Amino acid sequence: MTSQIMIGLECHVQLKTNSKLFCPCPTRQETEEPNSACCEICLGMPGSKPVLNKKALDFALKVALAFNCKINEKFFFSRKTYFYPDMSKNFQITQYEIPVGSNGFVELSSGKKIRIRRIHLEEDPAALVHEAGLLSSSHCLVDYNRSGIPLIEIVTEPDLSSPQEAREFLDELTMVLSYLDVFDFENGTLKADCNLSIVGNERVEIKNVTGKRNVEKALESEAKRQSELVKQGNQIARETRGFDEKSLSTKTMRKKETEEDYGYIFEPDLVAFELSKPEIEKTRRGLPELHSEKAKRLVKEFGIAEYDAKVISGSRFAGNLFEEFAKAVSPKIASVFVSRDLVAIAHHEGKELEEISGRINAVQLKELLVFFEKARINEKTLKEAAIAHVAGGKNPVDFVKENNLFKDAAGSEIEKIVSKILSSNSKAVADLKAGNEKSLNFLVGLAMRESKGKAEPREIKKLIEEKTK
Ligand code: ZN
Ligand code: MN
Repeated sequence: MTSQIMIGLECHVQLKTNSKLFCPCPTRQETEEPNSACCEICLGMPGSKPVLNKKALDFALKVALAFNCKINEKFFFSRKTYFYPDMSKNFQITQYEIPVGSNGFVELSSGKKIRIRRIHLEEDPAALVHEAGLLSSSHCLVDYNRSGIPLIEIVTEPDLSSPQEAREFLDELTMVLSYLDVFDFENGTLKADCNLSIVGNERVEIKNVTGKRNVEKALESEAKRQSELVKQGNQIARETRGFDEKSLSTKTMRKKETEEDYGYIFEPDLVAFELSKPEIEKTRRGLPELHSEKAKRLVKEFGIAEYDAKVISGSRFAGNLFEEFAKAVSPKIASVFVSRDLVAIAHHEGKELEEISGRINAVQLKELLVFFEKARINEKTLKEAAIAHVAGGKNPVDFVKENNLFKDAAGSEIEKIVSKILSSNSKAVADLKAGNEKSLNFLVGLAMRESKGKAEPREIKKLIEEKTK
């Protein structure tokens, strides 16, 4: 008997804005010097007044629209009160009563709809730094550079019924974020609080799991733990657990507090916000083509395989890269290269293609693909050069040149060797022409030795046969 699992996710996504949610401090800075990108607002000094970053609101609105949410034309912010060193004000500014968007949904490939309860804006707390060796274990450092960075929180209903479904939901989510260009895939993080219960039992929350893979792993381990407890006739305690990435298991953190315990109050420093209908409609019309539409278009427009089109459409980056390559080489070559070769290189590092986008130079790879299309390099060289480029930061064309991997260069070299062998072994050539198969093997052997194994016997045999016809 398999017990029915219910999973709900609360995903926190860092928005790709230049400045923080309520102050002009930069969200990223050159130096990375701790506590260098803060001001009285994001440090919560008395008397400081927050001002909402319009860009962050625009991003949240786009995500809410893409997820079919009802947009709340009037909304406001609240203070979520708690004491922790990562929140110097002792409260986090978030949205509680009325979020930007509510009652949306995401459709999975099976056609199943996952309801989105709400999408709201909130500020990120500071980072706690546990620097081993520097301080005793009873001490901890606080870096307020992260304090006030804009987040959106996307809360689903408990409609997901397996860790795999949760993963598919997150894949869908990151694809949408990618197309909307609101998330920094190279530097940003996606964190989720994962709620899991077995129908008829208490719910357990796994707090603050980083990244899609870890969410799937944490849920798998937690589902197994709870199923075993239920099978043995035990009660599941309502609690908050943490995920340990090393042991891939969850551990008790604390007994679950309820939302009410946080004591939300209206944020008096921020006025209530209004979004006008025309404003919302304008944003809706301005939404870019999303992945499912893009996949259909690629198949129709370029005639590429459906599988490849789906992989390529999986991120805005891959899609743009493909369309760029397809300007120079056939769509088939471009699609296979992006959806299989480049994706495989990223996966080899445990990453998505988008996460290594900074290491991909489209112009250089395009040149490499042209060589491949003109049959100047073979498939093996194409892959090797791509790896040297992405993993080693090498210009892929230089890689081919420096390692003398052009097919024609090797080809003409082998041809020279064969001509030389034929002209200096006239007796064997005459025997071969008279039909002696042994002479052919003899000549192939000589040429192989001369080429020092660079050439393939098949290739040499073919050349000799052509030249002695
Ligand atoms: Zn600030
Ligand atoms: Mn939150």
